[in-house]
Amino acid sequence: MNYLYEITRIANEKFKIRNLKPYQILVMHRILENEFENAVKREGQIVILPTGTGKSLCFLIPSILCRGISIIVYPLLALMNDQISKLTKAGIPCICLRGGQTNKDRRALFGKLKNGCKIVVTNPETLKNPKVLNELKKYRVSLFVVDEAHTIVQWGKTFRPVFSELGEMAESLGAAQVLAFTATAGEETLKEIRRVLRISEESNTVVGDVDRENIFYSTYPTYDRDEGALRLIRSLRKEQRPAIVFCNTRMETVLLCHLVHRNVRTVPMRYYHAGLERAEREKLEKWFLKSRDGILFCTSAYGMGVDKSNIRTAVHYRRPATVQEYLQESGRAGRDGRASKAYVIVTEREKLKEDKDELLKVFTEDRCRRRSLLTLLGQKKNECSGCDWCSAQVIRKPELSNTALKMIRKRPFRFDPAKAASILCAEKNPAMLESPGRIDSMWGAEKENDQDLVERAFLKMPELKYVQEGDFKRLYYDKGISKAVAVVLSMIVKLRSRLVLFRQGKTKKADE
Ligand SMILES: [Zn+2]
Repeated sequence: MNYLYEITRIANEKFKIRNLKPYQILVMHRILENEFENAVKREGQIVILPTGTGKSLCFLIPSILCRGISIIVYPLLALMNDQISKLTKAGIPCICLRGGQTNKDRRALFGKLKNGCKIVVTNPETLKNPKVLNELKKYRVSLFVVDEAHTIVQWGKTFRPVFSELGEMAESLGAAQVLAFTATAGEETLKEIRRVLRISEESNTVVGDVDRENIFYSTYPTYDRDEGALRLIRSLRKEQRPAIVFCNTRMETVLLCHLVHRNVRTVPMRYYHAGLERAEREKLEKWFLKSRDGILFCTSAYGMGVDKSNIRTAVHYRRPATVQEYLQESGRAGRDGRASKAYVIVTEREKLKEDKDELLKVFTEDRCRRRSLLTLLGQKKNECSGCDWCSAQVIRKPELSNTALKMIRKRPFRFDPAKAASILCAEKNPAMLESPGRIDSMWGAEKENDQDLVERAFLKMPELKYVQEGDFKRLYYDKGISKAVAVVLSMIVKLRSRLVLFRQGKTKKADE
């Protein structure tokens, strides 16, 4: 058999794909070589390819060509359904074994196997069922494929222990080749995948380019996380959406969605987490899939298996625990290959932290975000296709800081965060229209913002410390100005602010 010819023929005929990528051909070629030329030894292969790069073709095409059946294991139902619909669309017969099927259903499905169907899509829990296992043992199993194999490590230890039995199952089925596919994996994860699936150290590991060149990585600094999130999300123009905002907890998705919705009425937005009813989640998935400019606030529960290709912006309200998870989640953006952005919100307090985690270092230190991310995965990259550091677009200070400093300079003695916030966000606050502050040049400067959040952000500003302590000389002194000059400057400010007070008093009287 001319492997390359057969591979391209099927890609072309069944999947309408004309150009396969080199790593796809490499993986498929090796699978077929093992199938047809290596009869004795049980082989394994680990393939690391980013999501959206034609990962599943690497095992779907060989499973059509191999002599025996192929068992494809997925961690999630959504992924199974996705694969089934892909296969059905290509006109390739397959069966799906999952929970909730009756004996009659199963008998019908196994009947299809007898009639020459070669692809079985299933999940670990169903596969563990002795009845299923025994039925499958009747056939020669050419490929045992585990997709999204990093979930073995992430979930296997805690809430789905059956994952750790996958290697055993493959062995009892007498699978000729065990293949693990994953989008991102660090050294530790790979080790664990090899251990669980019993893939030897010498076995082949194919690493596709994990880098997603069309994603531009940026840090978004803020004093207050909510204030920053609101400002950032509001600033996303229509062409920067649909956007997805990753939170760490279910509660965060709800609260943040409500907060942003309260302030940005014109953009459709919803929240999504694993605690919602299944029907509700499906409805949300459908809504977001169709949405052209919506925003989805979600936990990591969203995403796997949902193939929305046109997400333009991925925002991390909070960072996930590992680089792998980060790349996986930010990689939801730009799956259509068009330019997309990934933001990570970092608070000023986090920047000052002593013991930063890896991901925080990537997004706070002065170096290329992309190269730092890839280095953590053991990959080298010389060229960066876009990050705030390489394009000299790093936002050094939170956007609120300029406004705040102006306010502080104007009133170094009587800076009251609550009052300052009410002046800045004035237009939204009708009560303030009566206030003498309305002549303030900063009146409504932050009218798009949320007053409570601005006040909260002020309270977190390190600069404010000086003013509140009344030692405003230090404000200048710390900027590297000599003490004598600082004293003079502060006297000028003192006089000026007295004058402003005096004038304001006069205007007030005149108004009366
Ligand atoms: Zn860069």
